[in-house]
Amino acid sequence: MITGIPVSEGIGIGKAVIVKKENSIERYNISNTEKEIERFIEAIDKAKKEISEIKKHAEQNLGSDKAMIFDAHLLILNDPEFVKMVKEKIQQGTNAEWAVNETAKFYESLLLGLDDEYMRERANDIKDVSERLIRILNGESDSEAGLKNLAEGSIIVAEDLTPSETAQMDKTKVAGFVTQQGGRTSHTAIIARTYEIPAVVGVKGVLGKIKDGDIVIVDGYQGIVLINPDKQILEEYEKRMKEEKQKKEELKRFAVTEVKTKDGRKVKVYANIAFPDEAEIAIKNGAEGIGLFRTEFLFMNRSSPPSEDEQFAAYKAVLEKMEGKPVIIRTLDVGGDKSIPYLNIENELNPFLGCRAIRLCLGHRELFKTQLKALLRASVYGNLKIMFPMITTAYELKEAKSILQEAKEELKKQGIEFSDKIEVGIMIETPAAALVSDILADEVDFFSIGTNDLIQYTLAIDRTNEKVSYLYDPLNPAILRLIKMTVDNAHKKGKEVGVCGEIASDENIVPILIGFGVDELSVNPAKILSIKKKITETDCNIEKSKVNKYLQIN
Ligand code: PEP
Ligand code: MG
Repeated sequence: MITGIPVSEGIGIGKAVIVKKENSIERYNISNTEKEIERFIEAIDKAKKEISEIKKHAEQNLGSDKAMIFDAHLLILNDPEFVKMVKEKIQQGTNAEWAVNETAKFYESLLLGLDDEYMRERANDIKDVSERLIRILNGESDSEAGLKNLAEGSIIVAEDLTPSETAQMDKTKVAGFVTQQGGRTSHTAIIARTYEIPAVVGVKGVLGKIKDGDIVIVDGYQGIVLINPDKQILEEYEKRMKEEKQKKEELKRFAVTEVKTKDGRKVKVYANIAFPDEAEIAIKNGAEGIGLFRTEFLFMNRSSPPSEDEQFAAYKAVLEKMEGKPVIIRTLDVGGDKSIPYLNIENELNPFLGCRAIRLCLGHRELFKTQLKALLRASVYGNLKIMFPMITTAYELKEAKSILQEAKEELKKQGIEFSDKIEVGIMIETPAAALVSDILADEVDFFSIGTNDLIQYTLAIDRTNEKVSYLYDPLNPAILRLIKMTVDNAHKKGKEVGVCGEIASDENIVPILIGFGVDELSVNPAKILSIKKKITETDCNIEKSKVNKYLQIN
């Protein structure tokens, strides 16, 4: 048994398919450096053609937002600095494969040394591109081709999967992912969760332990990987997998129905998404709306912000996919642990307490207004609601609303249409916002409680710091009191309240939230069905009778 980080729930059993890159990168001396540079330029052209092909394939199968990652690859190939460094190394008399590898290693270590998990993950893009170039220079064929023809029940084992590899892969044939590297935000982890494929990442030395064709069990709940297990263990896991499948089948009936509590109260179940094509999975699982579209992912992994048109296309795609159901789109929430190099945010000692989310947007008015205009333009394609993150004061909310008004006026002047029924809401994710929620409720149409941050800011614990994770307790009465206070204040003013933090996906906490009167739960698309089921098993009156107990017990 080996262990790693569980990043996508479920049990997967199948035969290992090892994705190994065996490019030989020998160093040898070149006398005709001009000719070697020509060979390098030809490899670049070929790589660009290959990437454009994969991009086309990804656009058709995954949507244009996921395909955008290949723009980053093309950018690297077109980057004059990258090309210059390789050429200089060739001019010093080394072969192109070696020059590419050395240059890639330089950029990789630069990115890996940065204090930002997201940027560190981007070292993968450099690696992906350089491996492609080296393979082309070596005259080897495309190893990704094998990933297109996977057998049913394949467990993919790799150092880490590159976006080009996952794009080529027939995901219906994949029973699990095991990777040597990566974390919760790595590309493999995001893809695995989107497609509900069990995955364990960060499994040290796994490539030396699993061979092609080995029988592998991936336990995406506990982060366990078992290789060629004995009959008894295999049977146990097969039984669990069967039960899981049966449970999933039973849950499917909730996909087509609205749900009410035992005593007849309607509780809406919406989905949290990060990429437009996840809306399809949300719909398949019976989401009654999108409760949180985290738009920051459109802004990451690139060297400049997405244009108004590009954003418009992404927002329109989600609104159209949701066919008139509510779509709450959150404006840009970066800063904190998600930094964006092109915004040149200064290093901060406490980035979570610094220039993050709405604070950053109010300081980058044009960036913010561009997003608001894209949202307004998209509003005619569905039921859009705009939501501002991390509000702490009524002043910030007024400022954000006045920029929204400016955006509306500019569009009006240009004769561009937008809906006149767009609701505006805020996330309640700071204790300050919860404490003045009676005042804020007058200024908005709805609240959505972001408990991931509300817990971090109330209990003074960095949500990314493992050393204090033992204090991260959603049931701490300080948190529950703030939630209850927010719901009561909103209801007094006739406004609805949702919860879009992780606790809305927790079956044990959902009854408490229902007892507090929460109107909507926005959850990971994979959890929609089980949360709907939980709602039908909950009795509001019983839960209400327990409210005071929850607010007191520590
Ligand atoms: C939250 O804080 O609960 C939330 C949903 O926002 P994020 O996790 O994106 O900060
Ligand atoms: Mg948040």
